Amino acid sequence: MTHTHDTSGPLSPVDERNLRAAMDAARASALSGEGPFGAVVAGPDGVAVMTQMAETLAMRDHTRHAEAVLASRFCHAYYDDPAFRAGATLYSSMEPCAMCLFTMFKAGIGRLVYGLSAERLYSAHEIFSTWPRTTIASRECVRHMSTPMIVQGPYFEDEGLRIVDESFRRCPACRG
Ligand SMILES: [Zn+2]
Repeated sequence: MTHTHDTSGPLSPVDERNLRAAMDAARASALSGEGPFGAVVAGPDGVAVMTQMAETLAMRDHTRHAEAVLASRFCHAYYDDPAFRAGATLYSSMEPCAMCLFTMFKAGIGRLVYGLSAERLYSAHEIFSTWPRTTIASRECVRHMSTPMIVQGPYFEDEGLRIVDESFRRCPACRG
């Protein structure tokens, strides 16, 4: 039995707006000197309630990915409203890693919509093969969750890759 509702059809206008906001957060994150990653979470009505950029450099902590930090903040803020959390969607500029997926799961977030796929990013930038990373795809993570998480993506991959490319051009340590 699979819990993945793999419905990567066209995005609704609400989903597109929120995913583009996550991509804007990724651009802002890159401009601030962080990794080019951003996330937004919206409630069941589609209204975005929180935005998060990456903060691994600022916090000197490699676990501070935008999606994991956002899932934790969201869970804390809506701890007493599990139905709101279950009906929420996290929008990520890039396909989240396994750490972020399982943090989202424990935070009770019911749905993920992502932009650039991990596969496309890793194939475009060799440097990622030298960094610690997991290779479990988001849909594989979801198959190991006891409650359903809807996963939709990738979307706007060319644009998502451009955000990463531009940020790497500005970062001497990241050119590759
Ligand atoms: Zn992550």
